[in-house]
Amino acid sequence: MDFKENIRVVADFPEAGIRFKDITTLLKDGKRFHQAIDALTKPFKGQGIELVVGPEARGFVIGAPVAYALEAGFVPVRKPGKLPAETLKHEYNLEYGKDSLEIHKDAIIPGQSVLIVDDLLATGGTVQATIAMVEALGGVVVGLVFLIELSYLEGRKNLTNYNIMSLLKY
Ligand code: IMP
Repeated sequence: MDFKENIRVVADFPEAGIRFKDITTLLKDGKRFHQAIDALTKPFKGQGIELVVGPEARGFVIGAPVAYALEAGFVPVRKPGKLPAETLKHEYNLEYGKDSLEIHKDAIIPGQSVLIVDDLLATGGTVQATIAMVEALGGVVVGLVFLIELSYLEGRKNLTNYNIMSLLKY
């Protein structure tokens, strides 16, 4: 199963020089989307995952079906000002620019087993910020799951203590 056929690479988006990996072409193919979620969840079945944490916005699209398949809860990580209750905030570097993320302070019970899911690992800034917030709330990160990994950006280098799974590598 080569899911690369289902990913559209768009040159110079969102700015010159970036070859954006567009997952909408995979998402609209029901069978392939289903197969991709199955492949991402398989290694974690029966592992006692209690929560899937996914960063806005594509982390919701991939993370929610992964949570459903694992019978785990889903916790959204969002851009500042979007979550209604009390939040924990963390600043991070993006492949292009800087941003902050927030999580609800009561989203995780200390000791809960957490899988972090996003569509794509680039520099690793987003997932590092997410890990920092999950661990600050007492969550135990058992794995990092991505549909796509941009290996040439070496995001893995700063994540050596974690179990990383990605379906597609560029
Ligand atoms: P990082 O923080 O540098 O690892 O960037 C990962 C984040 O940026 C993810 O949340 C992605 O959704 C987004 N991202 C970066 N590059 C791409 C891309 O080529 N396609 C889709 N999303 C991307």
